[in-house]
Amino acid sequence: MRTHPTRWLGPHPLRAGSTLPRMRCLFRFGTGFTAFLALAACGGPAPVAPAPAPPRPAPAAAPVRVTAAAAREVGADELGRVPVLMYHRIGAQPRSVYDRTPADFTAELERLAAEDYVPVTTADLVARRLDLPAGAHPVVLTFDDGDPSVFSLTPQGQPAAGTAIRILLDVAAAHPRFRPVASLYVNEHPFADPGDGRTLRWLTEHGFEIGNHTRRHTNLHKATESETIAAITEGDAEIRKAVPGYQPTTLALPFGMHPRREELAQRGPGYSYAGVLLVGAGPAPSPCAANFDASAIPRIRSQSQGREAEYGSTHWLDELASPTGHRYTSDGDPSTVSYPRSEGAVAPACASVGLAY
Ligand SMILES: [Zn+2]
Repeated sequence: MRTHPTRWLGPHPLRAGSTLPRMRCLFRFGTGFTAFLALAACGGPAPVAPAPAPPRPAPAAAPVRVTAAAAREVGADELGRVPVLMYHRIGAQPRSVYDRTPADFTAELERLAAEDYVPVTTADLVARRLDLPAGAHPVVLTFDDGDPSVFSLTPQGQPAAGTAIRILLDVAAAHPRFRPVASLYVNEHPFADPGDGRTLRWLTEHGFEIGNHTRRHTNLHKATESETIAAITEGDAEIRKAVPGYQPTTLALPFGMHPRREELAQRGPGYSYAGVLLVGAGPAPSPCAANFDASAIPRIRSQSQGREAEYGSTHWLDELASPTGHRYTSDGDPSTVSYPRSEGAVAPACASVGLAY
């Protein structure tokens, strides 16, 4: 077992002991021709044949690099910590500590928006693709197990009322800086899909990330090496079958358990992930912090009260918002990594764009 603070947080809601069973583009909010170019450049779904070419836009001004004074002014700390929140089910009658009511979930999103958090995906985080307004904070919203309470489509092909994704879309519509993106980690047969993969396709076509959670939610610590490889490659294949051309880039470990040969979670025959998510139990280091480990990214369970609430999201969001919270705060310039000198070491990969103040 590794020595980082992985923590087992009680029985898994759907699986343990139970009989129950493209990357977001930096410029995805652009319009017109710019958006078309950006979509193509970012490998998004092939756009429909574009309308007659609009007038060529004037060249954009060269981006202004942030200064140390400007970074200090907004309290930029791009070596600060990032909450990666973990959700499983949304329901009026919570059955375990992993469930949240629609009211709880809405209130948490409203809190995040009010505190100037901006959702990004896990893929964005591990790629250090954190293009946020100055003073804003990244948050990653993750949903495990493909539960229909998280997402399902109406017969008309719209996100169903009451699902987590519908709620997220509604909150984002009311808060223009709050992007409706999230990372969803699925097993086979997610989201009550009728079998043609339409639910996963809708998600990827709308900027959501689909990640691997193994085909059958395998506890990889109990699996042999060949069973581990099969569980991961089969989960990956299920996603690619549902969304032709899509390649999952991150994986969430079922139960937060690494295989005994830990590196096999991230890389093996036929697969290589840019990031691997744990189950507990605290904020993730900045991807530009020297202690960031893409093979073991901690998450925070969404929770406000009750048993083990000290590991839950309300506790951690309170702590991150405190003066000593070491929260990631953007300098507004995606080409520079600004941080107070007191924050510590920058990862070698980010050193060339670091700006200490
Ligand atoms: Zn799970």
